Amino acid sequence: MMEQGFLFGEDLGHFAHMEQTIAAPLEFTGVGLHSGAEVAMRLLPAAAGSGIVFRRTDLDNFEIAAIGRNVAKVSYATSLMRQGVLITTTEHLLSALIGMGVDNVIVEVDNLELPILDGSALPYVEAFSRVGMRTQRRRREVIRVLRPVEVREGGKFIGVYPGCGYKIEYAIDFPAPIGQQKTCVDLAAETYGTAIAPARTFGYKADEQRLRDMGLIRGASAENAIILGANGPENGPLRFTDEYVRHKVLDLIGDLALAGRRIEGRVVAERAGHAMHTALVSRLLRDRSAWEMAHLTAAHDSTPAAHPDASMTAPALMGI
Ligand SMILES: [Zn+2]
Repeated sequence: MMEQGFLFGEDLGHFAHMEQTIAAPLEFTGVGLHSGAEVAMRLLPAAAGSGIVFRRTDLDNFEIAAIGRNVAKVSYATSLMRQGVLITTTEHLLSALIGMGVDNVIVEVDNLELPILDGSALPYVEAFSRVGMRTQRRRREVIRVLRPVEVREGGKFIGVYPGCGYKIEYAIDFPAPIGQQKTCVDLAAETYGTAIAPARTFGYKADEQRLRDMGLIRGASAENAIILGANGPENGPLRFTDEYVRHKVLDLIGDLALAGRRIEGRVVAERAGHAMHTALVSRLLRDRSAWEMAHLTAAHDSTPAAHPDASMTAPALMGI
C-alpha cells in the first residue's frame, strides 16, 4: 500500500479521491460527558471499504457500524444502537473522521459512551496528524445530493441542497449571553482542523443543577465544556468569538456522518440540534431520488454542472 504523508490542516486535499485510514493505532482515555463513565478507546486502521465501525470490547467485541440504520433516538447526544447495545456521544469523533478524511477505522470502546476529552474534536485531529494517514486503493464515494431534502419542526429547520464540495450554513439563537450567531463554512476550501475542530461544547451554569439531577451531565466539568454564566464564559477565554456556532457545525458534520459517507452538497441549519440532524439523515437516505452514490473524479472536482439540479438554491437563512 502506498503511504502518504498527512498534511495537517489540509483535510481533503490532493488525495480527496482515494479512501484513507489512520497509519497506526491511537488511544484515548477519559470520561463520558453524559454518563460520567471512565472509558478507554482505541482507533485501529481498517481495510478499504469497511467504513467506521464501533466495537464494544466490554461486550464480546459486539460491533455497531456508524450508519443511519443504527441511529438511536436520544435527544441530548447522538447514539447508535444495535440489538439493544448502545454507543453514545459519537458526534465529535465522527466529525473529526469526516472532517479529516478518515474513511475506514475500527473504534474499540470498553464502555457505552465515547470520552468527551476537551469537549472539542481537536484532540482527534492532533492525534491523526501525529500518526499520519494511509491512502488506500479504493476510490472514495460521496453522497451527492441531487434534490433538496428538508426537515422543519417549529422554529427549527435543516435542509440539504445540491452543490459542489461540502458547505454548511448554520444559524443559532440561544439565550444570553450567546444570542444569535451565524457562520458559513466551505469544507473544501477551509480547514476543518483549524476552523471547526477546536470549537468546544457548551452549557449554561443556570441549567447545571437540573441536568445533573436528571443524570444527563455526570461527566461535565470546566475542563470539557464552556460553562456559561450570565455574563459569558466562566472558565477562560473562548477559542473563537463565535465558538458556539462553530461547535454546532462540528456536531452537524458528526451527525451527518451517519449517512455513511461524506455529503456532497450544501447544508442549511437554523436552531437545529442532534435530533434534527439525524432526522435529516433518515429522510435523505429514505428518498432514493434525492441523492446518488458518486465517485470524485479528482480532488475538488465534483462536477456540479453535470447535474441540472445543482443550480437550485436553498432559501436564504431567514432572520433569526
Ligand atoms: Zn457537541
